[in-house]
Amino acid sequence: MSNQLILVLNCGSSSLKGAVIDRKSGKVLLSCLGERLGTPEAIITFSKDGKKCQAPLAGRNCHAGAVGMLLKELEKHGLHDRIKAIGHRIAHGGEKYNESVLIDQAVMDELKACIPLAPLHNPANINGILAAQEHFPGLPNVGVMDTSFHQTMPERAYTYAVPRELRKKYAFRRYGFHGTSMRYVAPEAARILGKPLEDIRMIIAHLGNGASITAIKNGKSVDTSMGFTPIEGLVMGTRCGDIDPGVYSYLTSHAGLDVAQVDEMLNKKSGLLGISELSNDCRSLEIAADEGHEGARLALEVMTYRLAKYIASMAVACGGVDALVFTGGIGENSRNIRAKTVSYLDFLGLHIDTKANMEKRYGNSGIISPTGSSPAVLVVPTNEELMIAHDTAQLAGFLEEVG
Ligand code: ADP
Repeated sequence: MSNQLILVLNCGSSSLKGAVIDRKSGKVLLSCLGERLGTPEAIITFSKDGKKCQAPLAGRNCHAGAVGMLLKELEKHGLHDRIKAIGHRIAHGGEKYNESVLIDQAVMDELKACIPLAPLHNPANINGILAAQEHFPGLPNVGVMDTSFHQTMPERAYTYAVPRELRKKYAFRRYGFHGTSMRYVAPEAARILGKPLEDIRMIIAHLGNGASITAIKNGKSVDTSMGFTPIEGLVMGTRCGDIDPGVYSYLTSHAGLDVAQVDEMLNKKSGLLGISELSNDCRSLEIAADEGHEGARLALEVMTYRLAKYIASMAVACGGVDALVFTGGIGENSRNIRAKTVSYLDFLGLHIDTKANMEKRYGNSGIISPTGSSPAVLVVPTNEELMIAHDTAQLAGFLEEVG
């Protein structure tokens, strides 16, 4: 009998990423990317066995239209009947969910209630679930929240120092994101180190376009750098990360901007892009900095300095550090960012082996600190889709199929 398949959907406000995963091997059999949804230019690209094909979504340019096209593509390859469950990446589960959940009407209502916490992402996630229910009727749907892993943070880590009434009335607290990535990377790092996860005080830096850092103790998140929204913390591609909240009143009073414009500026025009005035893309900035571009140099310097400060602060959350793990597009590939960041952390005993740092790129995982050096520094490529597929198989009740 052919192995059962899980469809993983990750819906953004104008995009849909899909992956069909063989749970037994973990292999992605087919993937798709729907872009510019909601516009006349909406398009979907399918990838299978290294080949790509594209189709416009003119008729129905929404998430449901994209899932409909995906179903047709699956039928073309005879894969549709093997899909047994659908896993959805959900941006925000609020305080309600500390683990993934089988979706029913009550869960849908809860996710809708979380829309004010993630006004761009949760409506798209909900549309993805509705689209899956329409095109794959009868199949179980599972929600995997980016926030749930961080629900173990202690009160001292998630509480903002603002009046209690506001915190209670608006669920105003730190939530953290990238939890699905952390849940994949942490056990993988423990496996590489050959120790039980519970015995490792681990700091994971997930560095992609969005970036966050998490402290893990006894296998649980005890602090993380993103907060109420994903803007808090590290310098990111276009997000500023930590900034004096006084910036809002200053810029609205003196720069002629309204609150929405300041928000847009801090989320979409800041970070690496804002400092460099060149690009939000780390790789492009590294090339430009090598060629003498001053903005690119400064952007990377501010990013790595902030990151190093955060790593040191996470040692407080963990009560020490046994392992520092890099993941995400930058963390997995940029030896320069890793080396520069760790160079600030010599006083914590963190060091990098130049050869290992060179080798552990482009999908290679492993230890990049010198042999026997403690704490260890590691690179672990993340695989959020696999984690979602795993949770989905488990909650849909056929984990015994997993090899
Ligand atoms: P997202 O958060 O959108 O999923 P990714 O995890 O794919 O992002 O990370 C994208 C970032 O990774 C970009 O800044 C990109 O420049 C960076 N990146 C990818 N490969 C390299 C590389 N070889 N060197 C430096 N940065 C890289």
